[in-house]
Amino acid sequence: MEHVTKSPEETKNLGHFLINGLSFEKRKGAIVIALEGELGAGKTTFVQGLARLLGIEAKIKSPTFNLIKKYHIKLPKRLQKTKLKILNSRFLYHLDCYRLKNHKDLLVLGIKDILKNKENVLLIEWPERVKKILPPKHIRIKFDHINKNTRKIIIK
Ligand code: ADP
Ligand code: MG
Repeated sequence: MEHVTKSPEETKNLGHFLINGLSFEKRKGAIVIALEGELGAGKTTFVQGLARLLGIEAKIKSPTFNLIKKYHIKLPKRLQKTKLKILNSRFLYHLDCYRLKNHKDLLVLGIKDILKNKENVLLIEWPERVKKILPPKHIRIKFDHINKNTRKIIIK
């Protein structure tokens, strides 16, 4: 699936496409979403949109100082009968590997347990730095900066 968005708001709304277009039922552990793209490409903006969709009220910023942040999913009533409910996800983790040199730094954060738990959604910025921890079945989203307000976003 390829999308061209012309504003941050349009990128935030792509969460809907992701949830509706993909099947998560057969997964063994957490839903893992790898977000690729340069600085400013829109990865964090996308996370903000998905978090809003999942009823997370906290403001999501790039976890610059903390490598990883955890949020509680609180599905809005109107979404509880939709596919989102099937996901049964309870926690969203936002991981930013920009400052990371080695995937081993993630082990102390308990990444193995986070990945094992089916109740988790794990969004990873700069996933190419932690390839070794990515499960075989993960979703890849690639963000391309086209111009000031335009981004090309490919969901694989
Ligand atoms: P990243 O996490 O990939 O470094 P951010 O999401 O933090 O990127 O930043 C993207 C920046 O680009 C934000 O300042 C956002 O307002 C701006 N922007 C402009 N147009 C778009 C768009 N179509 N989609 C996403 N962000 C956009
Ligand atoms: Mg970011």
